[in-house]
Amino acid sequence: MVSAQAATSVRSFVAPDTVVGAIEQRHRLGDTAIYLSGGTDLGVVMRRHLVTPEHLIDLSRIDELRTLERVDGTIVIGSAVTHRTIELSGLFVGHAEALREACATVGSVQTRNVGTLGGNLCNASPAADTAPVLLALGAVVEIAGPDGRRLLPIDDFFVGYRRTALAPGEILTSIRIPVPDAPRGSAFLKLGRRKAMEISIASVTVRLDLASDGTIAAAGVGLGSVAATPVRSASAERVLTGSPPGPATWDAAAHAAVGDCSPIDDVRATQEYRAAMVPVLVARAAGIAFGRARSNA
Ligand SMILES: Cc1cc2nc3c(=O)[nH]c(=O)nc-3n(C[C@H](O)[C@H](O)[C@H](O)COP(=O)(O)OP(=O)(O)OC[C@H]3O[C@@H](n4cnc5c(N)ncnc54)[C@H](O)[C@@H]3O)c2cc1C
Repeated sequence: MVSAQAATSVRSFVAPDTVVGAIEQRHRLGDTAIYLSGGTDLGVVMRRHLVTPEHLIDLSRIDELRTLERVDGTIVIGSAVTHRTIELSGLFVGHAEALREACATVGSVQTRNVGTLGGNLCNASPAADTAPVLLALGAVVEIAGPDGRRLLPIDDFFVGYRRTALAPGEILTSIRIPVPDAPRGSAFLKLGRRKAMEISIASVTVRLDLASDGTIAAAGVGLGSVAATPVRSASAERVLTGSPPGPATWDAAAHAAVGDCSPIDDVRATQEYRAAMVPVLVARAAGIAFGRARSNA
């Protein structure tokens, strides 16, 4: 997806077949080298000469980064798994429907065929569709670097506007979603000016785990495009956890979520519009997530 025109600064292209090999190449080539997955974000910024790498290290031939499997109570997604693969996989049914929904809204089929989950997270746009979903699902990411591997809760991955916790040379290797025994439902809703090929004005994910007495045992709420980074709404989660499911609880959580946003005006919407839409989306997503949790029981 990186065009010849975009690649004017590029002097070399390497495609290692292991994570260790990619890290070694990055060490050898230095700071003018950059990792490439699907290229759907990188191609755009290179074309505009906002990023001018001299060396591209293609990660797409590394088998480990393309695995998608359930290991005991965890769904493990290699960072180079494409949005389209997730959209079409049955692995998320009953466990993480919201992630399938988010992946299914990324760009067009062509974009989703090459764009990857890892690329979406590493690009770290506040509007990245999968980021609030993974926050709500309590995902953990695995990172590999010159000093070995480490696990990091996704809550600690987005450290600022378009900035991640990755140190120079580190690779995001996998995304892990814990799957509980309790009935779970999740829902992703995205508000845009169009229904397709649209970056969100706001997006919301709600995840609910039900207790045996029918109350909400645990909850996750993720918000996109309403702050400098994707946001987890701890206030809404506190309202939901331990509460009886129903419209009064959804409304209380929805209004709590607004306090965790700091939206701005931009070309897509005003700050006021975003703040007004967040509670609508949270209440709606909570209702859908609850319906799914009940049918997954
Ligand atoms: C037409 C179009 C429509 C789009 N629509 C949407 C949309 O609706 N919603 C949305 O969220 N996004 C959208 N995008 C953005 C993009 O498709 C996604 O963010 C995609 O998931 C990026 O993945 P990629 O594999 O292409 O990343 P790349 O472009 O290859 O990489 C992106 C960045 O992450 C780094 N990187 C990639 N993988 C790794 C890794 N494993 N470890 C460390 N660093 C890594 C790269 O160095 C680069 O800086 C759209 C893009 C286009 C072109």
